[in-house]
Amino acid sequence: MVVLKFESLGFREEKKYLVVSLYKLFSFKVDKKILDDIGKFRIKKHEIEFENIKESRAIKKFNFIISSHINNLTNDLTKKNTIYIHQNSGIPLMGSNSFGIVDRGTNLIELKPISGCNLDCIYCSVNQDKRTKDIVIEREYLVEEFKKLVEFKDCKIEAHIGGQGEPFLYNEIVELVKDLIQIKNVKLVSIDTNGTLLTKNIIDELAKLKKVRLNYSINAINYELAKEIGGKNYNAEHAQNMARYAAKKMGVMITPVIIFGVNDKEMGSIMDFAIDIGAGNNSPIKVGFQNFLRYRFGKNPAKSIPWPEFHSKLKELEKKYNTRLILDETDFKITKVDELPKPFKKDEIVKVKIVGDGRIPGEKIAVARDRVITLPDCNKKGNVNVKITRTKHNIFMGEVL
Ligand code: SF4
Repeated sequence: MVVLKFESLGFREEKKYLVVSLYKLFSFKVDKKILDDIGKFRIKKHEIEFENIKESRAIKKFNFIISSHINNLTNDLTKKNTIYIHQNSGIPLMGSNSFGIVDRGTNLIELKPISGCNLDCIYCSVNQDKRTKDIVIEREYLVEEFKKLVEFKDCKIEAHIGGQGEPFLYNEIVELVKDLIQIKNVKLVSIDTNGTLLTKNIIDELAKLKKVRLNYSINAINYELAKEIGGKNYNAEHAQNMARYAAKKMGVMITPVIIFGVNDKEMGSIMDFAIDIGAGNNSPIKVGFQNFLRYRFGKNPAKSIPWPEFHSKLKELEKKYNTRLILDETDFKITKVDELPKPFKKDEIVKVKIVGDGRIPGEKIAVARDRVITLPDCNKKGNVNVKITRTKHNIFMGEVL
């Protein structure tokens, strides 16, 4: 008997299918008849056993089944088809703004391990309704590629976990943070969160690691208004309770998005709440108010207000609470550091390989020279020539010729 054990994969049977789950949130089905080809099998949570077969043969055959079904991977929460990006996927982690690693030429490196969200905020800048795909990245791959970039930068680094969704949907987030913190030169891991998936256990685990800060989006203290903003799944009471618990143990910055006419009246209550729970954790920065901005592929429930108006509101509150609210990079010790050399120039013609669909309908993901290039409005397959239309921050867009 051969037993194949997995950390990230789970198994359960469903009528004529074996359901294989990845990171607990994603899954695909395999017809049991296909598995019969390997041999009689039995499953446990993270194990599959085959009878009368050599181990090497079982591994080879089972891996083949996994790789031939992985394209059917679905996010069980959002029901969207999901791209799994791993060491052998042939998809680099730099080049896209939607996933992977983004280096904007500072000592802060953005990590986007997962897309998709459990909420449906009225202001969401990555309106999930306009995305037809989700993305999840293998933890080990993300850590390895991040490590290379940290070594290149050779300075103290903040790893910022955010992206197009809720990072705590990533089942291995605590392990990811542990891996990141162990890398020489990583001084802080900051994580964006809506707080609804946090538990005391998760907070305790993160607090033990010391160098972690949560950027916690509480957009209203009034439960009803908070639910109006966060959507029907938003549990305001839980989010606030977890913020209170976390603030006692680790760095927490409350990061509300302010939409004038919707929650600007809550700014004072949010300040009171942040002070009451002890947000900041010895840092003078307790709240980072964000001005609602309109995005082409975001939800746009209102107009953005001009920055001078937003800043004058913040100045009022700064005076009242005797604290800094108009923040810039220096408040977060963000400094300019060389970004990785770009392998393409703007307007350069490059041969790229299209590897799949992007998150937005009509968009394709292509690769060349160890970077991802996003191709909007593209219906091609295979190798194509593209003109590079954007290179800023090693985020590349292209136009098929
Ligand atoms: S929590 Fe963030 S990602 Fe999720 S819907 Fe709200 S704004 Fe969008």
